[in-house]
Amino acid sequence: MSREYETVIGLEVHVELATKTKIFCGCSTQFGGEVNTHTCPVCTGMPGSLPVLNKQVVEYAIAVGLATNCEITRYGKFDRKNYFYPDNPQNYQISQLYLPICRNGKVEIETEKGGKKYVGIHEIHMEEDAGKLIHDEWGDVSLVDYNRSGVPLIEIVSEPDMRSAEEVIAYLEKLRMFIRYLGASDCKLQEGSMRADVNLSVRPVGEEKFGTRTEMKNLNSFTSITHAIENERERQIDILESGGSVIQETRRFDDNKGESYAMRSKEDAQDYRYFPDPDLIPVQISEEWIEEIRSRQPEFRPEKMARYAKEYGIPEYDIGIITDSRHMADLFEEASRLCGQPKKVSNWLMVETLRLLKEKNMDAEDIRISPQHLASLVELTEKKVINSSVAKEVFEQMFEDDTDPVRYVEEKGLKQETDSGAIRAICEQVIADNPQSVADYKAGKEKAIGFLVGQTMKAAKGKADPGTVNSLLKELLG
Ligand code: ADP
Ligand code: MG
Ligand code: ZN
Repeated sequence: MSREYETVIGLEVHVELATKTKIFCGCSTQFGGEVNTHTCPVCTGMPGSLPVLNKQVVEYAIAVGLATNCEITRYGKFDRKNYFYPDNPQNYQISQLYLPICRNGKVEIETEKGGKKYVGIHEIHMEEDAGKLIHDEWGDVSLVDYNRSGVPLIEIVSEPDMRSAEEVIAYLEKLRMFIRYLGASDCKLQEGSMRADVNLSVRPVGEEKFGTRTEMKNLNSFTSITHAIENERERQIDILESGGSVIQETRRFDDNKGESYAMRSKEDAQDYRYFPDPDLIPVQISEEWIEEIRSRQPEFRPEKMARYAKEYGIPEYDIGIITDSRHMADLFEEASRLCGQPKKVSNWLMVETLRLLKEKNMDAEDIRISPQHLASLVELTEKKVINSSVAKEVFEQMFEDDTDPVRYVEEKGLKQETDSGAIRAICEQVIADNPQSVADYKAGKEKAIGFLVGQTMKAAKGKADPGTVNSLLKELLG
């Protein structure tokens, strides 16, 4: 009978920071520019060029470190990690080995069983990204694009504290929430602004010593991370059960085939000849600077959710969706404050906003509607200046370009007809034009009234209140 095994997982997570410029030069970090246009002598590794540290990178790293309960290193350094590769034009990467900026943190996660546990953070360090090689279209040559070279990264190294794929996902989601709330990165796995390397070993239940681990790189979705973990766990157990031993190596998991293969083993591990970068001065971080960053930390999602449950009478489901994005949460709070109708504001976010985001394949972060305009729309419908179907039309326009709903309604003449004499006249005309429906209604077919309401709304160009029309028609039909 086979033994029971426990999975042990530690993650190395790279996050591309949302600074405007690169870590050691003034080049743009914008994604997707014409190849090799966001470059200069520094980020293409020209001899004699000198790096200058981007202060915003340090601020983001400290902010992430504070959110994850790390100690901030007051005196830090950058080190050169030497290796040759064509996407690395200096022949070394500037990183931090000896004195990383953050250490000894922890992140609370919820476990599958509904409990809570901490995942330790070993360290967070700052480093530069490499360029990109393009092999695809060319049979015999490879091309290199240095636009990404020098884009700032932080690497968050966890302790081997996770025990299942669920815990790994919970941890990644928590990190992503902190980093997005801080505006430090959009953390998109598919686009590579967040990348997770999974270190995994297994050990018989009860055994204290860790097993030999493997590392899986380039997993770009939560699903493929989950598959890779399950697959690798089984592979290692099979090896141990058949009397073999796991080799410490880097493996690549192919989610299409559902299997992994070895990329390189520890024996070929390179000696990176790390040494302090002589071109960069040590980073000194003062207490005041840390306190200043601490005072600017936002309210994060768990605290926000608890507060919303107390302050606004909206369902837990709505709270979950709204606080998933800090941008949406800010929009919700400010619009609610302005119009005093949180449930109405939430409805616009839950129904029309989510529908349009999905339809246009957008992120909540990309919502352009201002709280002022959303609050005005709520007021326009509350005061019955416009009816709900016109409001939807107005909302679609606001979603496009943050149109002012008051002006739009005015300009397009969308105000509800409030002159009851005018509505009555239209109703009378509709009754006169539709004798069959009138007869049906009088013969007891309740449904016929719906048709007449529809005809009246159409004649009023949608600008009447359907409820009013309904009762007026009934009154007229006696
Ligand atoms: P290296 O120096 O080879 O990169 P580290 O000690 O920095 O190794 O660990 C890298 C990652 O691997 C960390 O996230 C750590 O938690 C994880 N790790 C280390 N040992 C194990 C193990 N036996 N099983 C699973 N994960 C491990
Ligand atoms: Mg490492
Ligand atoms: Zn540059």
